[in-house]
Amino acid sequence: MGTIGFIGLGVMGTPMAANLVAAGHRVTGFDLDRDALGRLAAAGGTAAASVRDAVEGAEVVITVLPDHPQVEEVVLGTVLDVVAEGTLLIDMSTIRPETSAAIAEAGAERGVRVLDAPVSGGQTGAEQGTLSIMVGGAEADFAAARPVLDALGTTVVHVGPHGAGQVVKAANQLVVGGIYALVSEAIVLLEASGVDAGTGLDVLAGGLAANRVLDLKRHSMVAREFRPGFRIDLHHKDMGIALAAARRADVALPVTGLVAQLVAAGRARGYGALDHSALLTVVENLSGRA
Ligand code: NAD
Repeated sequence: MGTIGFIGLGVMGTPMAANLVAAGHRVTGFDLDRDALGRLAAAGGTAAASVRDAVEGAEVVITVLPDHPQVEEVVLGTVLDVVAEGTLLIDMSTIRPETSAAIAEAGAERGVRVLDAPVSGGQTGAEQGTLSIMVGGAEADFAAARPVLDALGTTVVHVGPHGAGQVVKAANQLVVGGIYALVSEAIVLLEASGVDAGTGLDVLAGGLAANRVLDLKRHSMVAREFRPGFRIDLHHKDMGIALAAARRADVALPVTGLVAQLVAAGRARGYGALDHSALLTVVENLSGRA
C-alpha cells in the first residue's frame, strides 16, 4: 500500500487517519496541534514536523481542515509545490464548491489530480469507518482514490465534476440543520406541555418522524449534553456555504435561511464551541425557557 500524507488531525482527521493505518496504509500526518500528532503516533502513523514533511514523497495527500482559508494555505501554500506529478490530492474538508474547483484547476496546472470528497456521519462515522463520502472530480481519479476512500466510509459515491461533492455536502448540512431545529422545537413543546420529552421522542423515533438525529442524539439533547461532535461554529460555516451556493444557483431556500439564522444566533450567544445539538438552547431561548 502507498504512503498517505494526512493534514488536519482533529475530531474527524484523527480517527480517519487511524482507519487508514488499520487498512495497511503508511500514514504520515501533520497538525498544528501537538496533541493530535501524539494521537496519530499512538495509532501507528508517523508524526511529521510540517506540512512539507508530511506530504513529500506521498502518493496520496488527504486534507481534513476546518474551512477554505486553511485548505488554501496548506494546499496552495505548500502541498502543490512539494508533491510529485500524478499525486492524488483528496480534500475531505467541507468548503465552498468554487474553492474546490479553483484548487482542482491549480492542481491540474502542476499535474496533481484533485478530488473534493467531503464527508457526513460525524465523529462516530469517522471512528467506525462508516462515513458517507460525496466525491467531485474526474471519474478516473475517483477510481484511483477508491481503495483509500473505502477504508473510511461505506457510502462512497462519485457525484459529479469538481465542486459537486461540496454541493451535495451543502445539501446534507441544510437537511441536518433543519432536523436539529425541528427536534429542538419538539422537545420545547413536549416539556412546556408537561409531557416527558424522552418518552415522547422515543415514540417519534418509531414512526414517520424517525431520523438519524433522533436515533443518535435524542437522549443527549434531552439531558442537555452538548459536548462536540460537530461544533456550532462549523455548522454556521456550512449554512453560509449552502446559502451562497443557493445564490449562485439562483434558487430560494427559505427554510435554510431561517435555520441559518438560528445557527447564527447560537454562535452569537457564545455556543460556537458546543455541539450543533445546542440549537435546542437557541430554540428554548426564544420562549424564555433556557
Ligand atoms: P477540527 O477543528 O476538530 O479539526 C481541524 C484540524 O485542523 C485541527 O486539529 C487544527 O489544528 C488543524 N489545522 C488547522 N489549520 C491547520 C494548518 N494550517 N495545518 C495543519 N493543521 C491545521 O474539525 P473537524 O470537526 O475535524 O472538521 C474538519 C472538517 O470536516 C471541517 O471542514 C468540518 O466541517 C468537516 N466535518 C466535520 C464533521 C464533524 O462531525 N466534526 C462531520 C463532517 C464534516
